[in-house]
Amino acid sequence: MSRWKDGASALASLMVLILIIAVCSAIFSRITDSEEVPPETYTVASEPALSETEPVEDSSSFRITFLNVGQGDAALVECDGHAMLVDGGSVVQSGKIYTVLKEKNIRHLDYVAATHPDADHVGGLSVALHYARADNVLVSVQESEEQSFQTFLRTAEQFSRANSRIAEDNDLADSQSSKDISKAITVVSAGEVFSLGSARVEVLGPVALTDSDNDNSLVLRIVHGECSVLLTGDCGFPEEDDILKSFKANLGGSNFPETAEEDQVDAGTTDAILQADILKVAHHGSAHATSEEWLQAVKPSCAVISCGKNNEYGHPATSLMKRLEQMDVQTYRTDLLGDICFWESSHGWEIEPVDHKKEEGGGNSGGNTGESIGGSIEESLGGSIGEGAEESAGRSEEYIVNTRTGIFHRPDCESVGEMADGNKWYFSGEYEELKDMNYVPCGACNPCDR
Ligand SMILES: [Zn+2]
Ligand SMILES: [Zn+2]
Repeated sequence: MSRWKDGASALASLMVLILIIAVCSAIFSRITDSEEVPPETYTVASEPALSETEPVEDSSSFRITFLNVGQGDAALVECDGHAMLVDGGSVVQSGKIYTVLKEKNIRHLDYVAATHPDADHVGGLSVALHYARADNVLVSVQESEEQSFQTFLRTAEQFSRANSRIAEDNDLADSQSSKDISKAITVVSAGEVFSLGSARVEVLGPVALTDSDNDNSLVLRIVHGECSVLLTGDCGFPEEDDILKSFKANLGGSNFPETAEEDQVDAGTTDAILQADILKVAHHGSAHATSEEWLQAVKPSCAVISCGKNNEYGHPATSLMKRLEQMDVQTYRTDLLGDICFWESSHGWEIEPVDHKKEEGGGNSGGNTGESIGGSIEESLGGSIGEGAEESAGRSEEYIVNTRTGIFHRPDCESVGEMADGNKWYFSGEYEELKDMNYVPCGACNPCDR
């Protein structure tokens, strides 16, 4: 009996091996013989050879969650088990970022990107670097007066050095991952391309650096199969114009190299196009961004505005809302809906209600009953991923983390009085969680002796 089993499993292994070879050679032949495959029919997501043996959602998955971080930006992109965090809201949103990564058990981020140095984009990113190992930290500029940006860069340097040592200890010194890790911070600009699983990330901006932090925002177009998203940071009219001009100048050619670093994508997808199904509206819906010309080039079917409830800037601006309406763009707002998650199904984008399992008896079942874009989902959305997730039985206490120094305190510690508000993360939970993230207990107030 056991001999038969061994024989059967050996046969099964052989068949799997043959299948893998067949799939690999199919993929390889598509990459090398690109003229045999008309570019416009190429999709990264669904290789026919794979979709015959398993459902599309098992072989490839793509989702983007716009996190409700009040007046700020944060988006988590997940593809095939790889993850990229683009912005993290302000420092008071550190708990939100931590909770989302913890709930999704993301302890490895392929990329952490800061679109630009403003505090409402980078303040909450440091905790991500503490919680998850980040292979690549992407920025558009190296320097800024913004203190939260300096904290972010320092944290990135600290943790990438730590990670390099871990990589060397594990004999990974020659591998690609260790090469990536050793580059603490990467400054990227228009024309660069990289991969996130089977998704392709194109850097559209900044084309040229200016005096304005906002107009130095990383503008990222993420493409997976037929689906595309455009992330814009706080880019304004000047940067939009720069990008539009750079594409016009290259009309007929490509703004991008033939293939991404990890050559999982086909040269046929490098058309110089700005089009995106989902547009993260720039600068929280400011009147001075997202021009008519920009919208005509991007042609989004829906737009996401990330802004705070009753924010002091009056975002989103009425004039912007009119522009979106005139272009017939369906608009979703984090201040009204909470977290907004789009994921790719076999028939295109779906929008998924966030998980409400932690909220008591709310009117939402929170199952995987995603609705196709175009349906009215406003009523079914609301609330946010991870609310209440920091509740824990027993030893949950209040701590104040100095995100600048990485030291945590009891709330009544003297040093808390001297700490700038812009550095404080009010954490409630167990101190072991903080130590696990490499935060250090204060030597004066001894927060772990309770
Ligand atoms: Zn902003
Ligand atoms: Zn202390």
